Amino acid sequence: MNVLLIRVVNGLTRLSPTVTRFSQSIAFESSISVIPKEYTKDWKQSEEYTKDLPDPTLANPYNKPKKLCILCKYGIKVDYKNTQLLSQFVSPYTGRLYDKHITGLCEKQHQVLKQEYEKSVAYYLMSSDFREPKYAKDPKLFDPTRPQRPNPY
Ligand SMILES: [Zn+2]
Repeated sequence: MNVLLIRVVNGLTRLSPTVTRFSQSIAFESSISVIPKEYTKDWKQSEEYTKDLPDPTLANPYNKPKKLCILCKYGIKVDYKNTQLLSQFVSPYTGRLYDKHITGLCEKQHQVLKQEYEKSVAYYLMSSDFREPKYAKDPKLFDPTRPQRPNPY
């Protein structure tokens, strides 16, 4: 109805200035409609909107706990004199240190372990060719046949 009226009035605009003003006022009034409350400025501050929002002080329950390597997790300090601990990261077949994708250690701990292992070998506390047989029955910290991460090489 409004659209039809505006068309009729628009056709009359060429007639006189008073008709033009009249048609403009009709066009303005017809463009006003009821704005939904969801689009108003105060909607996001209103009680009705904020009552269902999550509490910002609570922690996100979907956040996964940060994955830590076994040395970081238990706060174990690697030392070159602790050959029993070092031998757990050494292959029983080759006597070499396992890489971090197999042991699951983080970069920092792996570098510390490597440094301490080399120091221990340099001081003849450990052999670089084999693993001490007395540590053969120590519990396994990881499964070398199932690496923690894919091989980076
Ligand atoms: Zn770590």
